Amino acid sequence: MANSKYEYVREFEQAEPLLKNTWIVVRIDGRGFHRLSTKYQFEKPNDKRALDLMNAAGAAVMNELPDLVLAYGISDEYSFVYHKDTTLFERRAAKLTSTIVSTFTSYYVFLWPQYFPDTPLLLGMMPTFDGRAVCYPTIGNLRDYLSWRQVDCHINNTYNTAFWTLILKGGMEAREAEQTLSGTNTGQKNEIMYTNGLNYNNELEIYKKGTVLYRDYELAHPIEGSSEILSSAVASTGTDTIASSLPEELSKTAQEKEKKSKRKAGVKAEHIDIIKDEFWQRRPWILSGRSGRLVGSVTTG
Ligand code: ATP
Ligand code: ATP
Ligand code: MG
Ligand code: MG
Repeated sequence: MANSKYEYVREFEQAEPLLKNTWIVVRIDGRGFHRLSTKYQFEKPNDKRALDLMNAAGAAVMNELPDLVLAYGISDEYSFVYHKDTTLFERRAAKLTSTIVSTFTSYYVFLWPQYFPDTPLLLGMMPTFDGRAVCYPTIGNLRDYLSWRQVDCHINNTYNTAFWTLILKGGMEAREAEQTLSGTNTGQKNEIMYTNGLNYNNELEIYKKGTVLYRDYELAHPIEGSSEILSSAVASTGTDTIASSLPEELSKTAQEKEKKSKRKAGVKAEHIDIIKDEFWQRRPWILSGRSGRLVGSVTTG
């Protein structure tokens, strides 16, 4: 690039690389979606089309960024997890975050007509998202972060479903519904829904559990026992061990091979528990960051 007398301004740029060897979570969240969901007449409390659209945009992001190992979505938010060994964009926070936000938003807008064929997007009411990156130093911290989001999904959904049951089936006004639910625990909310004609157990899993996205490899056999076994299973994949050095970077050829395998695997969406050990035990490739065995592939040699 040509030198100019103006070029010194580059020195004002902050590199802001994120701490090495930590799990980078980028969480994006829809801006003003309460208003947007009213404007586009989302069904309350859960509009399935809106969730499916979020998941389609999330899967597109996973497809475009092979360094992502997992994503978890609820409501108008999505958390994307970069593997702790990623060197993408020299781990610069702004680049890692803004690439996800803009890729997600592009797909969300592009795919909108597929999910809302009768509701065109309007100028002045465009879907936009904010994003932030947070580093988690251990697998425990990362799993607690994801557990926090899934518990939030459960708590919010129980409240919202009970609230809207009281309004739609119980004929209450918002204030009355709010007062009825104030101070109630989960069991009492379930009871209130039941007496108003809704069995919470029959609600769709996507509403109760959110959506987890990951690369689709063959599941490992379930491991009997406790989280101690998980730590050793995880240790054997080379993550979270007491290491005295940083992990070695793969050769360029090996990196290309990994990328290809990840593309081939495709992205799977599930609405299941990600808090318990089993999810992680059966999908060791998520934390190892290495490809697993493709579903249906035959081992040779
Ligand atoms: P902010 O800009 O601060 O994020 P917000 O209005 O987006 O404000 P959130 O706390 O992010 O507020 O909550 C998102 C809101 O969007 C929910 O409370 C709900 O009203 C609405 N919403 C999001 N997804 C759906 C959906 N699938 N079905 C129905 N409503 C939804
Ligand atoms: P990075 O992903 O690192 O940003 P990049 O390929 O986007 O890489 P930039 O340094 O952002 O590289 O440079 C943008 C490049 O895009 C320009 O060098 C030029 O080749 C091309 N480009 C951008 N705008 C135009 C335009 N209006 N017409 C033709 N080419 C353009
Ligand atoms: Mg929001
Ligand atoms: Mg939100």
